[in-house]
Amino acid sequence: MNFSIAKLKIKEYNVIVILWGVFMELLKNRIRTEGIALNSDILKVDMFLNHQVDAELLDACGEAFAKAFENDGVTKVLTVEASGIPLAFSTALRLKVPFVFAKKGSHSNIGTDLYAADCHSFTKNMDYAMVVSKKFINASDNILIIDDFLANGAACNGLMNIVEQAGAKLCGIGIAIEKGFQPGGENIRKKGIKLCSLAIVEEMGKGFIKFREQ
Ligand code: 5GP
Repeated sequence: MNFSIAKLKIKEYNVIVILWGVFMELLKNRIRTEGIALNSDILKVDMFLNHQVDAELLDACGEAFAKAFENDGVTKVLTVEASGIPLAFSTALRLKVPFVFAKKGSHSNIGTDLYAADCHSFTKNMDYAMVVSKKFINASDNILIIDDFLANGAACNGLMNIVEQAGAKLCGIGIAIEKGFQPGGENIRKKGIKLCSLAIVEEMGKGFIKFREQ
């Protein structure tokens, strides 16, 4: 690498770091002002993320994920319905690749040739199956998983299971809100998987939400 290219690369890297910082702060501010810790475990963010959706904010999150994984050769973005969809849409749009969302439950209308994984929902305390048609992921794919929350890791494990069944490669995982006091994130990092979480909640309770410094 000659000197000027090296300088350019450093500048580009700095811009990415600054952008990341801005996106993280945007999201954290919304969590601080509109997020509600229902108890020490569950964070309600239905004002902007998973019921009413702030399209501009989630688009900025998608831009951050796309920047983080732009050099990883992503061929498809994979998420699970419903809350992962806007984030996956925006990420895929920027990476110029399709996105696929796993459907929950049994879906006779998508055929029988399916990858399926069982998953336990932390918030609903129930088990469900997530399914993806075999038409949409195959061994030549390099998959980026995107989701809104990472808690115990069941949703990500289900999606990783589907990637494995397809014989595809996993290039990483992008999460809007990781709850750092639950084990999902740590377990993924221990496996050496690239995990980009925009906001990591370290601790929360009635009236307070503390973020991890990143
Ligand atoms: P995990 O499977 O990692 O235990 O939990 C992730 C999934 O559960 C996400 O897809 C998300 O929909 C849901 N989830 C987990 N924790 C929370 C939370 O604190 N608030 C909300 N709104 N959803 C959560």
